[in-house]
Amino acid sequence: MDHPREKCGIFAVIGHEDAAKLTYFGLYALQHRGQESAGIVASDGNHVREHKAMGLVPDIFNEGILDELKGNIALGHVRYSTTGSSLLVNAQPFRVRYSGKSLAIAHNGNLVNAHEIRAQLEEAGSIFQTTMDSEVVLHLTAKCIRKGLEQAMIETMAQVKGAYSMAIMTEDTIIAARDPNGFRPLCIGKLDSGYVVSSETCALDLVDAKFIREVEPGEIVIINEAGLRSVPSGIKSRKSQCIFELIYFARPDSNIFGENVYLFRKEQGKLLARAFPLDVDLVMPFPDSGNYAAIGYAQSSGLPYEMGVIRNHYVGRTFIQPSQSMRDFGVKVKLNPVRELLKDKRVLIIEDSIIRGTTAKTRVRTLRKIGAREIHMLVSCPPHRFPCYYGIDFSSRGELIAAQKTVDEIRDYVGLDSLGYLDIEDLVKATRIPHGDLCLACFDGRYPVPVDVGFTKTCLEVD
Ligand code: SF4
Repeated sequence: MDHPREKCGIFAVIGHEDAAKLTYFGLYALQHRGQESAGIVASDGNHVREHKAMGLVPDIFNEGILDELKGNIALGHVRYSTTGSSLLVNAQPFRVRYSGKSLAIAHNGNLVNAHEIRAQLEEAGSIFQTTMDSEVVLHLTAKCIRKGLEQAMIETMAQVKGAYSMAIMTEDTIIAARDPNGFRPLCIGKLDSGYVVSSETCALDLVDAKFIREVEPGEIVIINEAGLRSVPSGIKSRKSQCIFELIYFARPDSNIFGENVYLFRKEQGKLLARAFPLDVDLVMPFPDSGNYAAIGYAQSSGLPYEMGVIRNHYVGRTFIQPSQSMRDFGVKVKLNPVRELLKDKRVLIIEDSIIRGTTAKTRVRTLRKIGAREIHMLVSCPPHRFPCYYGIDFSSRGELIAAQKTVDEIRDYVGLDSLGYLDIEDLVKATRIPHGDLCLACFDGRYPVPVDVGFTKTCLEVD
């Protein structure tokens, strides 16, 4: 694994007779945000039904299952585990019944004080069913539910810290909330007869929902039969939207934090071309990570853009493991270089990140073998020196190559003729977002919300 892992995706529908089906399509569009498990909870006002399983959205649901998820309100989730192991019990939405009410949660992000809150709740007699930080939120909300949902959410948000975009569903209401720093994206769309809430706008497009706006950092949005109501949580904090959502996670056809992801990535390439005008024969990405920055570099520099490596789109998640002697098989089965295009050429590869460096090293070795004359690499962000505690699963600091080696040492390790990184000023410049409204902690180590450096994704399992 030489790229950070996706986190989670949320999609909710209210006020549509095919709510579960629409949610299915929404999750389909958000599959890139999590491939370990998926689930949908739906309500017809009287009964709440759910279906969750491990695997990909199209493998988990079929027509019959979706027909059973009746009602005009539904909540869905795709998951990659950032807290809690990859087990069915940890699949979301996570649902409880409390005081005669059904509460289901879909959460994206990591709470940095979940461990602490959970210990306090357990001390007071709460019994937890999962090892997810998201369950903490439901316990806190349930504790104050008698004061009404709105007040319960305000009191919950006053206690939890860290990164969360979430949607909570009762029998007749969807509540969307975003942490006061706004780490993760969350937006609202309008259907003819209702509303949707989604991690990214690409899912709105698929279900023909019109983008209304993003949920503001620190905002609680309550949607039910009475319409849509915004409630400020009252917690003030500086915005710190995750730059890595723009660099890598979000789909290029999404708009997040007010930016179009595709155009942002092209701009990164353009700024790389200005900072590193290289004398090479062609520019190419390793698909699909550097595609859009490579287009930006090529258009800005006038160099030919080539797809020098071809991806096999049909490689499944598992294949028979090759024997030890079949070196580099895992990389080769996915990507194959076009020998006739690259032989004797001076090649520039655009990458969106180098995390451990192992995959890049293997790929570069393959290009050398087929006769590329020079291999240069430019990365469209600064070196990753610090781990993320807000819901992105990079390797631990010990495994981050840039935490251990200088740029020259990384160049030699990967086997390149030259290596350059976009600097932090240019990275921020590629957005139209002020520097102070972004989280850049994995590059500069300045964590906007104090973190527990002992955090691991399974830390709630060692109680
Ligand atoms: S540390 Fe990096 S990956 Fe994590 S939230 Fe901040 S910018 Fe995003």
